[in-house]
Amino acid sequence: MAHVNEHYLKLQAGYLFPEIGRRVSAFADANSAAKIIRMGIGDVVKGIPRPIVDAMKSAAEELAHDESFRGYPSEQGLDFLREAIAKNEYQDAGVDVGADEIFVSDGSKCDSGNIQEIFAADSTIALTDPVYPVYCDSNVMAGRTGACRDGRYDGLVYLPCTEDNNFVPALPEQDVDLIYLCSPNNPTGAVMSRDALAEWVEYARAGNAIILFDAAYEGYITDDGLPHSIYEIDGAREVAIEFRSYSKSAGFTGTRCAFTVVPRELTGHTASGEPVALHGLWNRRQSTKFNGVSYPVQRAAEASYTPEGTAAVRGLIAFYLENAAVMRERLAACGYTIFGGVNAPYLWLRTPAGFDSWGFFDHLLQNAHVVGTPGSGFGAAGEGFFRLSAFNQRDAVEEAMDRISGLK
Ligand code: PLP
Repeated sequence: MAHVNEHYLKLQAGYLFPEIGRRVSAFADANSAAKIIRMGIGDVVKGIPRPIVDAMKSAAEELAHDESFRGYPSEQGLDFLREAIAKNEYQDAGVDVGADEIFVSDGSKCDSGNIQEIFAADSTIALTDPVYPVYCDSNVMAGRTGACRDGRYDGLVYLPCTEDNNFVPALPEQDVDLIYLCSPNNPTGAVMSRDALAEWVEYARAGNAIILFDAAYEGYITDDGLPHSIYEIDGAREVAIEFRSYSKSAGFTGTRCAFTVVPRELTGHTASGEPVALHGLWNRRQSTKFNGVSYPVQRAAEASYTPEGTAAVRGLIAFYLENAAVMRERLAACGYTIFGGVNAPYLWLRTPAGFDSWGFFDHLLQNAHVVGTPGSGFGAAGEGFFRLSAFNQRDAVEEAMDRISGLK
């Protein structure tokens, strides 16, 4: 008899977006004339810039000819892209990351979900509350937690991110082995300062812990003082893995390309205390289970670093940040308390008096026909908050803001 992995049965998620979908469908069925504006899901809406698509097309053309045909790509990524990443994302900014430390992949979701496989089953995991659900669920599936009670899994160490700590997690009181940090943050839009990140690096170094640093929204940082990479912090190469993605910068949510950095000197330990290079373990994991990213997509990602590609990507990000600025201004004018939306594409609103997260969701849907994401869906500490995404066309943003401003 085939027994199932019963850890899957503990999963609570799969609840948030299906439940949003259920409520939106029920509303749409009952109000067929309503024009619903979706500001909930974090998917981009603008086309991929022309120089990037042109590079994808000419790479596809190469595949039509025997002389330039390519079969399986290397699982770690093709050299031209690994080198372009190391130079453009890190070395040009004075950050020490080598091409052979880059692992190209089909998404930061996959990488941040899969990375836990190279760590021991009894690792103690710390993650923020609220949190991007992948970090939590991938550890639930792997059996590192007990049951879920009141929105929290036994065995996980939760780091609350609240107004009191400006949504930046404080160090845990106990020792932990793995720490998931995300900056700029989904869902709160908070960005960790250099000092805050340095404290975490110091904590990890002192306790031989590893930081899993998700920088999928790094491109949204426009403030010169804020760190784009954890490797800007001294000593981070010995304690951190970093994830970055082309999804929200170059518009690759459907095209799929991302990368993970595993520095050469980064080690975990065996139960008997022997150091083991994580680079080798991740390499082994990817070689066994991943077949690499298609050649045209890697050429497209490379084209995002040409002068034209860079300018176009900056333009896309600027567009979404302008959306965020419009939303912040309009919502503040109506009296909402807003966090995020600066150096980040997400706004994190305090729900108005009398509304919990789902209550406000229903209120906006029913009365403004606007869909957002209830903060409580990202964790217990997200109760009383609401996420709005800036990934939308400008006219939809303006219309949504007009409708919200008109609410009683
Ligand atoms: N990490 C965070 C924090 C995200 O919010 C997302 C997407 O929403 C991802 C990773 C996924 O990125 P990708 O599209 O590269 O899988």
